[in-house]
Amino acid sequence: MATAMETRPQQKASSEAATEKKRWTLSDFDIGKPLGRGKFGHVYVAKEKRSNHVVALKVLFKSQLKQSQVEHQLRREVEIQSHLRHPNILRLYGYFYDQQRVYLILEYAAKGELYKELQKFKCFTERRSATYVASLARALIYCHGKHVIHRDIKPENLLIGSQGELKIADFGWSVHTFSRRRTMCGTLDYLPPEMVESLEHDASVDIWSLGILCYEFLYGAPPFEAEEHSDTYRRIRQVDLKFPSKPVVSAAAKDLISQMLVKDTSKRLPLHKLLEHPWIVQNADPSGVYRSG
Ligand code: AMP
Repeated sequence: MATAMETRPQQKASSEAATEKKRWTLSDFDIGKPLGRGKFGHVYVAKEKRSNHVVALKVLFKSQLKQSQVEHQLRREVEIQSHLRHPNILRLYGYFYDQQRVYLILEYAAKGELYKELQKFKCFTERRSATYVASLARALIYCHGKHVIHRDIKPENLLIGSQGELKIADFGWSVHTFSRRRTMCGTLDYLPPEMVESLEHDASVDIWSLGILCYEFLYGAPPFEAEEHSDTYRRIRQVDLKFPSKPVVSAAAKDLISQMLVKDTSKRLPLHKLLEHPWIVQNADPSGVYRSG
C-alpha cells in the first residue's frame, strides 16, 4: 500500500518521471463521512480511488493557517511526520493543495481518539495503561533515534488504530534537533520543569510527558493539575508529585512514574530501561495491542 500511495503512476517514460512523487488532487479520492473538526479545518474519511485504500483526509484552510501564523509549524509537521514509519506513529502519506485549502493524506485511525476513551472510562486498568505506555516508549525511541523529539505527548494527540494500537498523531510541536532547544510549547499540564522555566531542553522532555500520561491513564487526571495556572507551574517546578489513595494503583506503577518525573533531566529513566521495568514487563501486552475483556 505504501508504494501505491507514494509513487507516481508511470505516465511518462523518462526515469526522472518514474522517481517523481505522485501529485495528488481531490479527484483521486471519494470523500466519506466527516471524522471530526479541528482548529483549522475538517477531517473526513476518504477512499483513494485507484487502490481503494481508506485514509483520513485533513482539510485545512489556508486563510486560517495564515491568520494564526502556523504555516511554518504545519510545514515542519508535514516534513517530519511524512518521514516516520512506525506502527505507533500515524502515517502521513502525502499532501496537496488548491487555492484555498491544504489537504493532508493521513492513515485512518478507525477507533478514534484516545482522549474520548479516557473520558468514557475515567481511568484505565494497569494492563491497558502499561500496554499503551510501552508502545509509546517504543515509538519515542524510534523518533529520538531519528533526532526527532515530539514535545507534545498528551491524550488529545493520540489516536487508536483498528487493532486497538495507539498512534501518535500530532507532530505540530515536534522538532528535528541536533542541539538543545529553548522554545516554549505544549500544554501546561504536560510541560516538564525545564520548559516551564524556559531552559534548554532535549529528548528527555518526552520521558517526562510519558510519565504524566502514565499517571493520567491510571488516576484519570494529570498529577500537577490545579485551578490556577500559576499553581500548576509551581507544582511542576517543585515536582510536587502525590499519589491519591483512590483509585488503588500498584507500588510498581508508582515507582515507574516516580522514575520518569524527575527534575534532573539526566536522571530520568531512559526509555529502553522503561521497557525493562517490572511493571511494564508484568502488565504490558507484548503485541502492543490492548484488547478489552
Ligand atoms: P484534528 O484537526 O487533528 O484535531 O482532528 C479533528 C478530529 O478528527 C480529531 O479529534 C479526530 O476525532 C478526527 N481525526 C483526525 N485525524 C484522524 C485520523 N487520522 N483518523 C481518524 N480520525 C481522525
